Amino acid sequence: MIGFNKPYLSGKEIEYISQAVNSMKISGDGIFTKKCHDFFEKKYGFKKVLLTTSCTDALEMAAILLDIKDGDEVIAPSYTFVSTVNAFVLRGAKIVFIDSRPDNPNMDVDQIEALITPRTKVIVPVHYAGIACDMDKIMALANRHNLFVVEDAAQAIDSYYKSRPLGSIGHMAAFSFHETKNIISGEGGMLVVNDEQFIKRAEIIREKGTNRSSFFRGEVDKYGWVDIGSSFLPSDIIAAFLYAQLENLDTIQTKRKEIWSRYYGELKQLEQSGSIKLAHVPDFATNNAHMFYIQCKTLEERSALIEHLKKGGVHAVFHYLSLHKSPYYTGKHHGGEMLQSDRYADTLLRLPFYYELTDKDILRITDLIVSFYKTII
Ligand SMILES: *Cc1c(COP(=O)(O)O)cnc(C)c1O
Repeated sequence: MIGFNKPYLSGKEIEYISQAVNSMKISGDGIFTKKCHDFFEKKYGFKKVLLTTSCTDALEMAAILLDIKDGDEVIAPSYTFVSTVNAFVLRGAKIVFIDSRPDNPNMDVDQIEALITPRTKVIVPVHYAGIACDMDKIMALANRHNLFVVEDAAQAIDSYYKSRPLGSIGHMAAFSFHETKNIISGEGGMLVVNDEQFIKRAEIIREKGTNRSSFFRGEVDKYGWVDIGSSFLPSDIIAAFLYAQLENLDTIQTKRKEIWSRYYGELKQLEQSGSIKLAHVPDFATNNAHMFYIQCKTLEERSALIEHLKKGGVHAVFHYLSLHKSPYYTGKHHGGEMLQSDRYADTLLRLPFYYELTDKDILRITDLIVSFYKTII
């Protein structure tokens, strides 16, 4: 059986975890957390990086930082992971869902303006499959209407928009190091703060509402309760694991891009013959090889293909269900149809994708797909 995902260990994870343990400072913000922060700030020019225990936590921090209150409106795609919006709902926000582009699952930026009201506070672009949303258009709208932009960059590590790293463009961004992402620490994430006005408070919110970070830098002589907050920082053991991955980021990315191109090469014929659709990467975006997906024509066709792959020993999976139709949000949704989101929910299929996937595996998978489309013609 070829599984859908397999976490990749780059080699030094256990060694660095032992080092973290032996340093006898294994709570948050130890040596490895600092190494990770420095790595990201240097490599991508992020103004301030704070590791968190998940991307979900980073998004929750963003919602607190932006003072989201009852009735504030947040524009976000319907085709996304629940945390993208749940973080804001926890603070009382109303989610104003927006449909996806016809050519890829990212938000259709041309529909944003019509959804803006006097209560709109935030736009949350999700860079699906690590492929950039049209950030110039989003930032221009945000500036014109005085809105904040929080990039859900959970899948977007080491990916770019017009040569600018994703996560560096919005006022803030949230990344994930969940074991299904390119760079992992089991569970894990980070908040990137690009707008300076939020940096100090971000540290406080992450440390249970205390000014403990200032205290450790010697800026205040005692620390106490100064704001709301929670415990969002990971143990240094998690950071140790993550740092081992970061040291191998380039190798991991090179390998993943090779796998992506291999899949693309094998399946492009099926796209040309009109059987399936492959991912569309706009000119302004790079592809960080986070996932490889195909689009079938219908839900029934996709279910049959999943079954066919399963019989052949391959585990392929669909992805999100439209959030505007979720049991939790149906009664709360503004009512607009999200036809593209529904279409991706029905037809998008993700193929196995991980560092150790071999050429032979890829050929076995693509042969099964080719044989499936021969039988249905
Ligand atoms: C993975 C993912 C998340 C959640 O990340 P966690 O680290 O598991 O909290 C949020 N948004 C998107 C788009 C994701 O892919």
